[in-house]
Amino acid sequence: MITLCAIASGSNGNCYYIGNEREAVLVDAGISARRISARMHQQQLDPEKVKALFISHEHADHASGARVLAKKLMIPVYITARTFVAMYPNHKPMAPRFFEPASSVGIGSFMVHPFLKNHDAAEPCSFRIEYNGIHIGVFTDIGSICDRVIRNLQLCHALFLETNYDERMLWEGNYPWPLKKRIASDHGHLSNDQAFELLNNHAGNQLKTVFVSHLSAENNNPETVKNRFSELESRFNIYLTSRHAAGEVVRLNGEE
Ligand SMILES: [Zn+2]
Ligand SMILES: [Zn+2]
Repeated sequence: MITLCAIASGSNGNCYYIGNEREAVLVDAGISARRISARMHQQQLDPEKVKALFISHEHADHASGARVLAKKLMIPVYITARTFVAMYPNHKPMAPRFFEPASSVGIGSFMVHPFLKNHDAAEPCSFRIEYNGIHIGVFTDIGSICDRVIRNLQLCHALFLETNYDERMLWEGNYPWPLKKRIASDHGHLSNDQAFELLNNHAGNQLKTVFVSHLSAENNNPETVKNRFSELESRFNIYLTSRHAAGEVVRLNGEE
């Protein structure tokens, strides 16, 4: 059995839980440690099971809670060396464990496969997490789709996938022009349309569970995403995530 939950998801804070009966890993800690603990408690996710925190990149919405959370749960923080250097001094975890993008890390019975992504950070990574024949993707903050994203997506049974912005809302919205350009650039974020195309064209037959993730507060909303993805509801169970609360806890059966 594998348990999945978006503890926080959105352009102002991200934290994703992937666990089995005995152990769990977290990807990103972009809200406070106190809020992560409270939301885990609400969803009856046991913090004692968490064995490691992986940080995808240094932006505050992924890393701001890392230092305190690691101390509180007494867990190692896995991070690339360049991301560690780029992290703000008050977010830096005390005793980082460095990984290289493209080399896998074993955490108990999980295998975490990091890979580089296109985003405006020092050494940004996405993750595919493997347990008992099940592969879970955590793909957020992706400016453009590369072969690595496609190859890893093809293996996934479940996926946290960025659907950051609606094209029309972004371009007609109030953001300053340089920020609009940055978000839509090849090193910014995935739009609803890009995420839709990625899923529609490249998902494997075994992918059934999709959490639409990392929605912008200004340039997107859950209704818009739900409508955009309604065509795919016959192929996938689509779950919304939220910045305000932990999302639904979803359990998948492994190949046991
Ligand atoms: Zn982000
Ligand atoms: Zn980012």
